Amino acid sequence: MTGGSPEILVVEDEESIASFVSLYLKNAGYAVRTAATGNAAIAEVNSKEPTLIILDLMLPDLDGIEVCRRIRQKSDVPILMLTARDEDVDKIIGLEVGADDYMTKPFNPRELVARVKSILRRVTPERREAQGERIVHGDLIIDAGRREVTVSGVEVRLAPKEFELLWELLDHRGLVLTRDQLLERVWGYTFAGDTRTVDVHVRQVRRKLGEASPIVTVWGVGYKVAPARDSAPAA
Ligand code: CA
Repeated sequence: MTGGSPEILVVEDEESIASFVSLYLKNAGYAVRTAATGNAAIAEVNSKEPTLIILDLMLPDLDGIEVCRRIRQKSDVPILMLTARDEDVDKIIGLEVGADDYMTKPFNPRELVARVKSILRRVTPERREAQGERIVHGDLIIDAGRREVTVSGVEVRLAPKEFELLWELLDHRGLVLTRDQLLERVWGYTFAGDTRTVDVHVRQVRRKLGEASPIVTVWGVGYKVAPARDSAPAA
Protein backbone atom coordinates (compact mmCIF):
# COMPACT_ATOMS: atom_id res chain seq x y z
CA MET A 1 0.00 0.00 0.00
CA THR A 2 1.42 3.37 -0.96
CA GLY A 3 0.20 6.82 -0.04
CA GLY A 4 -3.34 7.80 0.88
CA SER A 5 -4.94 8.19 4.28
CA PRO A 6 -5.01 5.34 6.77
CA GLU A 7 -8.19 3.38 6.19
CA ILE A 8 -10.44 2.41 9.08
CA LEU A 9 -13.00 -0.37 8.85
CA VAL A 10 -15.94 0.29 11.20
CA VAL A 11 -17.86 -2.89 12.00
CA GLU A 12 -21.12 -1.99 13.70
CA ASP A 13 -24.72 -2.98 12.97
CA GLU A 14 -26.25 0.01 14.72
CA GLU A 15 -26.60 2.49 11.91
CA SER A 16 -26.57 5.59 14.14
CA ILE A 17 -23.33 4.59 15.88
CA ALA A 18 -21.68 3.52 12.64
CA SER A 19 -22.48 6.84 11.01
CA PHE A 20 -21.34 9.12 13.81
CA VAL A 21 -18.14 7.15 14.32
CA SER A 22 -17.50 7.34 10.57
CA LEU A 23 -18.14 11.06 10.57
CA TYR A 24 -15.66 11.75 13.37
CA LEU A 25 -13.02 9.55 11.75
CA LYS A 26 -13.48 11.23 8.36
CA ASN A 27 -13.20 14.63 9.98
CA ALA A 28 -9.93 13.47 11.53
CA GLY A 29 -8.62 12.68 8.05
CA TYR A 30 -9.17 8.93 7.86
CA ALA A 31 -10.73 7.02 4.99
CA VAL A 32 -13.59 4.92 6.35
CA ARG A 33 -15.30 1.73 5.23
CA THR A 34 -18.18 0.17 7.14
CA ALA A 35 -19.57 -3.33 7.60
CA ALA A 36 -22.81 -4.15 9.43
CA THR A 37 -22.22 -7.86 10.04
CA GLY A 38 -19.33 -10.10 11.05
CA ASN A 39 -19.30 -11.91 7.72
CA ALA A 40 -19.27 -8.62 5.84
CA ALA A 41 -16.35 -7.51 8.00
CA ILE A 42 -14.31 -10.62 7.21
CA ALA A 43 -15.08 -10.21 3.50
CA GLU A 44 -13.93 -6.57 3.67
CA VAL A 45 -10.66 -7.55 5.35
CA ASN A 46 -10.06 -10.31 2.82
CA SER A 47 -10.65 -8.01 -0.13
CA LYS A 48 -8.36 -5.29 1.21
CA GLU A 49 -6.76 -5.08 4.63
CA PRO A 50 -7.60 -1.82 6.40
CA THR A 51 -5.07 0.07 8.55
CA LEU A 52 -7.21 -0.48 11.66
CA ILE A 53 -10.55 -2.08 12.56
CA ILE A 54 -13.13 -0.79 15.00
CA LEU A 55 -15.14 -3.87 15.87
CA ASP A 56 -18.40 -3.99 17.79
CA LEU A 57 -18.79 -6.98 20.07
CA MET A 58 -22.51 -7.46 19.45
CA LEU A 59 -23.22 -8.18 15.81
CA PRO A 60 -26.23 -9.94 14.29
CA ASP A 61 -24.38 -12.93 12.85
CA LEU A 62 -20.89 -13.73 14.19
CA ASP A 63 -20.00 -11.92 17.38
CA GLY A 64 -16.99 -9.62 17.56
CA ILE A 65 -14.88 -12.21 19.33
CA GLU A 66 -15.32 -14.73 16.55
CA VAL A 67 -14.66 -12.06 13.93
CA CYS A 68 -11.49 -11.05 15.78
CA ARG A 69 -10.34 -14.64 16.04
CA ARG A 70 -10.82 -15.24 12.32
CA ILE A 71 -9.06 -12.04 11.33
CA ARG A 72 -6.17 -12.84 13.66
CA GLN A 73 -5.58 -16.14 11.92
CA LYS A 74 -4.00 -14.24 9.06
CA SER A 75 -3.52 -10.66 10.11
CA ASP A 76 -2.03 -8.48 12.84
CA VAL A 77 -4.12 -5.48 11.80
CA PRO A 78 -4.86 -3.39 14.93
CA ILE A 79 -8.36 -4.03 16.31
CA LEU A 80 -10.20 -1.73 18.70
CA MET A 81 -13.18 -3.53 20.21
CA LEU A 82 -16.41 -1.78 21.23
CA THR A 83 -18.39 -3.34 24.07
CA ALA A 84 -21.51 -2.49 26.01
CA ARG A 85 -20.97 -1.05 29.46
CA ASP A 86 -20.16 -3.39 32.36
CA GLU A 87 -19.36 -6.39 30.26
CA ASP A 88 -16.02 -6.96 31.93
CA VAL A 89 -15.83 -10.59 31.05
CA ASP A 90 -16.60 -9.93 27.45
CA LYS A 91 -14.01 -7.21 27.31
CA ILE A 92 -11.37 -9.49 28.62
CA ILE A 93 -12.28 -12.28 26.28
CA GLY A 94 -12.11 -9.76 23.50
CA LEU A 95 -8.55 -8.89 24.40
CA GLU A 96 -7.54 -12.49 24.86
CA VAL A 97 -8.44 -13.27 21.27
CA GLY A 98 -6.10 -10.57 20.14
CA ALA A 99 -7.84 -7.19 20.07
CA ASP A 100 -5.42 -4.35 20.77
CA ASP A 101 -7.73 -2.32 22.92
CA TYR A 102 -11.37 -1.79 23.78
CA MET A 103 -13.81 0.99 24.58
CA THR A 104 -17.10 0.74 26.42
CA LYS A 105 -20.31 2.26 25.09
CA PRO A 106 -21.40 4.94 25.36
CA PHE A 107 -18.12 6.61 24.49
CA ASN A 108 -17.04 10.08 23.54
CA PRO A 109 -16.27 10.02 19.80
CA ARG A 110 -13.32 12.36 20.35
CA GLU A 111 -11.85 9.82 22.73
CA LEU A 112 -12.37 7.13 20.12
CA VAL A 113 -10.45 9.19 17.57
CA ALA A 114 -7.70 9.77 20.16
CA ARG A 115 -7.44 6.02 20.72
CA VAL A 116 -7.26 5.34 17.00
CA LYS A 117 -4.45 7.87 16.67
CA SER A 118 -2.60 6.32 19.60
CA ILE A 119 -2.85 2.83 18.18
CA LEU A 120 -1.74 3.90 14.72
CA ARG A 121 1.16 5.90 16.13
CA ARG A 122 2.38 2.74 17.81
CA VAL A 123 1.97 0.70 14.66
CA THR A 124 4.05 2.92 12.42
CA PRO A 125 7.65 1.77 12.12
CA GLU A 126 9.92 3.21 14.77
CA ARG A 127 13.58 3.89 15.17
CA ARG A 128 14.28 0.66 16.98
CA GLU A 129 12.78 -1.41 14.19
CA ALA A 130 14.91 0.47 11.70
CA GLN A 131 17.95 -0.30 13.85
CA GLY A 132 17.00 -3.93 14.19
CA GLU A 133 17.59 -3.80 17.91
CA ARG A 134 17.21 -6.91 20.03
CA ILE A 135 17.27 -7.79 23.70
CA VAL A 136 18.67 -11.03 25.09
CA HIS A 137 17.42 -12.04 28.53
CA GLY A 138 18.56 -15.54 29.45
CA ASP A 139 16.82 -17.97 27.09
CA LEU A 140 14.52 -15.25 25.87
CA ILE A 141 15.42 -13.20 22.80
CA ILE A 142 13.20 -10.42 21.56
CA ASP A 143 14.09 -9.02 18.17
CA ALA A 144 12.42 -5.71 17.32
CA GLY A 145 13.63 -5.68 13.71
CA ARG A 146 12.05 -9.03 12.92
CA ARG A 147 9.30 -8.60 15.54
CA GLU A 148 10.16 -12.04 16.76
CA VAL A 149 10.29 -13.59 20.23
CA THR A 150 12.15 -16.83 20.83
CA VAL A 151 12.65 -19.00 23.91
CA SER A 152 15.69 -21.27 23.61
CA GLY A 153 15.50 -20.74 19.85
CA VAL A 154 11.80 -21.61 19.52
CA GLU A 155 9.56 -18.85 18.23
CA VAL A 156 6.60 -17.74 20.36
CA ARG A 157 3.98 -15.72 18.51
CA LEU A 158 2.77 -12.66 20.39
CA ALA A 159 0.03 -10.21 19.36
CA PRO A 160 1.34 -6.72 18.53
CA LYS A 161 0.59 -5.14 21.90
CA GLU A 162 1.89 -8.18 23.78
CA PHE A 163 5.16 -7.79 21.90
CA GLU A 164 5.37 -4.08 22.65
CA LEU A 165 4.60 -4.64 26.31
CA LEU A 166 7.29 -7.29 26.72
CA TRP A 167 9.77 -5.09 24.89
CA GLU A 168 9.00 -2.09 27.07
CA LEU A 169 9.50 -4.06 30.27
CA LEU A 170 12.74 -5.68 29.09
CA ASP A 171 13.98 -2.35 27.83
CA HIS A 172 13.60 -1.03 31.39
CA ARG A 173 15.14 -3.94 33.24
CA GLY A 174 15.74 -3.08 36.86
CA LEU A 175 12.86 -0.63 36.99
CA VAL A 176 9.24 -1.04 38.00
CA LEU A 177 6.84 0.38 35.42
CA THR A 178 3.39 1.39 36.61
CA ARG A 179 0.27 0.43 34.68
CA ASP A 180 -0.19 4.07 33.68
CA GLN A 181 3.37 4.25 32.39
CA LEU A 182 2.81 1.10 30.36
CA LEU A 183 -0.45 2.48 28.95
CA GLU A 184 1.41 5.57 27.89
CA ARG A 185 4.43 3.82 26.43
CA VAL A 186 2.79 0.83 24.80
CA TRP A 187 -0.65 2.18 23.92
CA GLY A 188 0.42 5.78 23.45
CA TYR A 189 -2.17 7.20 25.83
CA THR A 190 -1.63 10.71 27.01
CA PHE A 191 -4.81 10.51 29.07
CA ALA A 192 -5.96 8.18 31.83
CA GLY A 193 -6.96 4.87 30.29
CA ASP A 194 -8.33 1.67 31.67
CA THR A 195 -5.35 -0.11 33.19
CA ARG A 196 -7.05 -3.51 33.02
CA THR A 197 -5.90 -3.53 29.42
CA VAL A 198 -2.35 -3.82 30.74
CA ASP A 199 -3.20 -6.65 33.12
CA VAL A 200 -4.94 -8.68 30.45
CA HIS A 201 -2.02 -8.34 28.07
CA VAL A 202 0.45 -9.30 30.79
CA ARG A 203 -1.61 -12.40 31.45
CA GLN A 204 -1.48 -13.30 27.78
CA VAL A 205 2.28 -12.87 27.58
CA ARG A 206 2.67 -15.09 30.64
CA ARG A 207 0.39 -17.74 29.19
CA LYS A 208 2.26 -17.81 25.89
CA LEU A 209 5.77 -17.74 27.37
CA GLY A 210 4.99 -20.03 30.31
CA GLU A 211 8.03 -20.60 32.52
CA ALA A 212 10.08 -18.33 30.32
CA SER A 213 7.99 -15.25 31.16
CA PRO A 214 10.22 -12.77 33.00
CA ILE A 215 7.35 -10.50 34.07
CA VAL A 216 6.90 -10.02 37.81
CA THR A 217 3.91 -8.29 39.41
CA VAL A 218 4.82 -5.62 41.93
CA TRP A 219 1.67 -5.43 44.01
CA GLY A 220 0.04 -2.03 44.13
CA VAL A 221 2.59 -0.58 41.73
CA GLY A 222 2.94 -2.33 38.39
CA TYR A 223 5.29 -4.74 36.68
CA LYS A 224 8.99 -5.38 36.34
CA VAL A 225 11.30 -7.96 34.81
CA ALA A 226 12.92 -10.70 36.91
CA PRO A 227 16.67 -11.30 36.53
CA ALA A 228 17.51 -13.64 33.66
CA ARG A 229 17.36 -17.31 34.56
CA ASP A 230 20.35 -19.51 33.94
CA SER A 231 20.10 -21.27 30.62
CA ALA A 232 17.94 -24.36 30.74
CA PRO A 233 19.98 -27.41 31.73
CA ALA A 234 20.92 -29.70 28.88
CA ALA A 235 18.72 -32.78 28.60
CA1 CA B 1 -23.98 -3.86 17.78
